[in-house]
Amino acid sequence: MTDTPTQLFIGGAWLDAADGATMPVDDPATGEILCHIADAGPKDARLAEEAAVQAQEEWARTAPRARSEILRRAYEIILDRTDELAHLMTAEMGKPLSEARGEVAYAAEFFRWFSEEAVRIDGGAGILPDGRNRMLLSRRPVGPCLLITPWNFPLAMGTRKIGPAIAAGCTMILKPAPQTPLSSLALAAILKEAGLPDGVLNVVTTSRAGEVCEPLLRGGRMRKLSFTGSTAVGRLLLAQSAEAVVRTSMELGGNAPFIVFEDADLDKAVDGAMLAKMRNMGEACTAANRFFVHHSVAEEFGRRLAERMGGLVVGPGTRDGVDVGPLIDRTGRGKVEDLVADAVERGARVLAGGRTPEGPGCFYPPTVLTDVSPESRLMDTEIFGPVAAILTFDDEDEVVRRANDTPWGLVGYVFTEGLDRALRISERLEVGMVGLNTGLVSNPAAPFGGVKQSGLGREGGRVGIDEFLEYQYLAVPVG
Ligand code: NAP
Repeated sequence: MTDTPTQLFIGGAWLDAADGATMPVDDPATGEILCHIADAGPKDARLAEEAAVQAQEEWARTAPRARSEILRRAYEIILDRTDELAHLMTAEMGKPLSEARGEVAYAAEFFRWFSEEAVRIDGGAGILPDGRNRMLLSRRPVGPCLLITPWNFPLAMGTRKIGPAIAAGCTMILKPAPQTPLSSLALAAILKEAGLPDGVLNVVTTSRAGEVCEPLLRGGRMRKLSFTGSTAVGRLLLAQSAEAVVRTSMELGGNAPFIVFEDADLDKAVDGAMLAKMRNMGEACTAANRFFVHHSVAEEFGRRLAERMGGLVVGPGTRDGVDVGPLIDRTGRGKVEDLVADAVERGARVLAGGRTPEGPGCFYPPTVLTDVSPESRLMDTEIFGPVAAILTFDDEDEVVRRANDTPWGLVGYVFTEGLDRALRISERLEVGMVGLNTGLVSNPAAPFGGVKQSGLGREGGRVGIDEFLEYQYLAVPVG
């Protein structure tokens, strides 16, 4: 903690907020303050905007190979510092160290992936239908970007945006979530060390998100917003971006169905459920939110899942052997408690967990609920906690209709041993991603994103860089 930067990173310099404001960063395992960091206001936002705008032209002209090598160096530094970064992440966010190490590797991989993509930005050429005109197509960076990230994956949500922005030749302002700013500040220091020119990345930590971001979006000098967070905030930012016609990529909330058919391999289904539900303590946009299990296997599936969930060790993420850390804060835990109480009031049976432990920290036990009423609030609310809610179904049409009966469409999970059924159901699900007999879909090489109110655009994969590039078409008459 002693070497972790706590100031704003603007134009390559570490600065206090112009008005001297600071804000605390808490440890969710103890409720204690870890440190204070700079709390930016509108003046700092203008300074960061100026830095990003000034750096844009030269950065866009920088050789793709040079941009690629900066990302590659940063990838290597991140991996070298896995332990340090994992401890920092666990301290501010709570996830167990083993998961934090996993996130460091996942986050670094976006830099390796986009270091490879930076040198493969293509264009095109062609003869127009009249035969007299030619067209030349080139791809250019979209311009200065505002990147806004949530707290649940403090490092990876940043690298998933910064990686393609650097590769494409965009400058940027990153505004991380106020609960987990330290990982982003550490990342900025690493990129500086890797040779990123001043002003290309600026990091603005703040407790005043609206005051800082709204003028940037309405002002029109930032040409792109890439946002990861809740659908409610995404909707507001889309409206703000409309004024200056700022291009947007939105990775928003989810309400993932997890479907177990009667012909599923139950070992795979329970393993998949543990991953899809318990990764990150259930605080993931990809977390399975509604378990639809065929009535003929529901009892057995519920029993096995409750046994596995009930056996997990809950405690501070830094302690050896801990599987489940604290939730992010008391508000997050209070929401989970209310959703469970509501489901139980409507008739759900608790097969595991369900009771908040005494003592400090925001802990909540892994919980399995069965016989959940479709009217329960957790059916149309992201639980964002370690709670599996099981409902039963009878046939394919019914389960597809119920799975799609939500405004969200990020991911779905399907467990069946029948290939034809697997493909049929996957095609009918209104989601951007499907986990087929697996509970994990995230991979830097794959396009991540949702449909409906889960978002616009994709991050990662071959298409991830497209979000940061524009086409320019050159018309060339040749007589
Ligand atoms: P959130 O409340 O929407 O906040 C996300 C970010 O937006 C934070 O940095 C937040 O800062 C900022 N923000 C809030 N209001 C703002 C405003 N008016 N102007 C500018 N920025 C603003 O979401 P969260 O609770 O941090 O994260 C959980 C949500 O993220 C869940 O819905 C989850 O599904 C979603 N998520 C989606 C993906 C995906 O890839 N689809 C990945 C991870 C998480 P403040 O907290 O200071 O307001």
